[in-house]
Amino acid sequence: MTASIPCLATVSEIRAALAEARAGGDSIGLVPTMGALHEGHLSLIRAARAENDVVVVSIFVNPTQFGPNEDLKRYPRDLEGDGLLCAEAGADLIFCPSAGEMYPEPYSTWVEVEGLTGGLCGRSRPGHFRGVCTVVSKLFNICDPERAYFGEKDAQQLAVVTRMVRNLDFPVEIVPCPTVREADGLAMSSRNARLSPQERAQAPVLYRALSAAYDRVRAGERDAPALDRLIRSILAGAPLGEVDYVEIVRADDLTPVATLSGENLMAVAVRFGETRLIDNVRVSA
Ligand code: AMP
Repeated sequence: MTASIPCLATVSEIRAALAEARAGGDSIGLVPTMGALHEGHLSLIRAARAENDVVVVSIFVNPTQFGPNEDLKRYPRDLEGDGLLCAEAGADLIFCPSAGEMYPEPYSTWVEVEGLTGGLCGRSRPGHFRGVCTVVSKLFNICDPERAYFGEKDAQQLAVVTRMVRNLDFPVEIVPCPTVREADGLAMSSRNARLSPQERAQAPVLYRALSAAYDRVRAGERDAPALDRLIRSILAGAPLGEVDYVEIVRADDLTPVATLSGENLMAVAVRFGETRLIDNVRVSA
């Protein structure tokens, strides 16, 4: 049995715990999450464990990154189970603040990254990345980590946070981690638990469509509209899914491309009922 690890809920407690570690010369790795942990999160924690003396996992369902009609209330929560998984994966500390702790009244300061947030998820989730950047900035200020771990599954988030760190001179290395998938290709996500059995059966269509497009690029296709059509035709095979977007963009600045060259990202978002799933693959051309 794995011993449980401390779960600290206030900024002053986590600061005190980390100040002690830092004074002893320890490096700190931070894994920001919204909890309901799965193997994707655990891969980030293990990567942090391998590279840092102290590993902090933050578990905070950040209200400011949810839109008014999104699933904040229904977002899965399991702090007890998460604590055990964090301990098993080798984390040392959990930071699990309340919304009031993170956004003390009056709260009026926001971090916004322009340019990278207009397309992909930014288009259908206005304000989402402002919430993400604000909470990630706060977590960096609170924990002052040497390294922070982010999943490639949320490719736009990774690009936006990387740009923010460079632009605002946060002294932290952003470490990208590959997408962890179920055996049938579905990218792991806390939201997968909310799919009905019928929706779950159709959800692997995202990765199937992206993989087919990837193979087509490897075979020489460079025309983005042709790849877009291929992806959409495969997504159409899942009648319970409603396409939010299909986008083919440059991997560095997320601008749409007509003809693939260099590093590209092919990304999709599909709604199954109330549940919105995203996935992406990188491909060089
Ligand atoms: P979330 O709890 O969904 O906010 O995710 C917390 C972190 O875990 C983010 O950096 C995500 O990109 C990452 N993550 C979520 N799902 C996966 C996955 N299937 N594979 C790799 N990383 C993931």
